[in-house]
Amino acid sequence: MHDAYPDYEYKRITDITLNDLYNMGAKAVAVDLDNTTVLDSTLRAPGGVKEWLQTVRAAGFPVIIISNTYTIRAWWLSKKFGNLPWISMADKPHTAAFFKAAKMLGIEVSDMVMIGDRLFTDVMGANKAGAISIKVDPFEPEKLFAEKFRKERKKEREYLEKRRKERNAENRRFSRKSEKIK
Ligand SMILES: [Mg+2]
Repeated sequence: MHDAYPDYEYKRITDITLNDLYNMGAKAVAVDLDNTTVLDSTLRAPGGVKEWLQTVRAAGFPVIIISNTYTIRAWWLSKKFGNLPWISMADKPHTAAFFKAAKMLGIEVSDMVMIGDRLFTDVMGANKAGAISIKVDPFEPEKLFAEKFRKERKKEREYLEKRRKERNAENRRFSRKSEKIK
């Protein structure tokens, strides 16, 4: 399985500062819709999201929507967020949409951050495409297909926990090695 470990983790999209984006080396920002910028399966954006998107764009980062949702909804939300370019039915974690987005924005995919709430679609797809992956917490548990998502979220938690442990163990091995070299 391809790596679904995020490069960065935040609670909310609005917690990501412009400085963070500069430090990540980002030139453009791709965002997921459900549970990242809008409440799941709705057209409602929690407070601050629309303003955050405006701030990021005003600072010179082009923003694009990459969503697995159906077209009319992506179109409507792109209007709501100030005519963002958008890709619907993106089929994440397949990488085609990420490359298409980078091309639409005229940047390299490695200069694009992908912000999303799901490990095995948003993060894994971004990692596979070579974009910078940012995982945010979902706003709320999914109501549609609740049982499917409950299982998916459990899988995500277990995966993150396992990978964190592996990475900590690697870091410990590495620091022991470098101590020896000294
Ligand atoms: Mg989502």
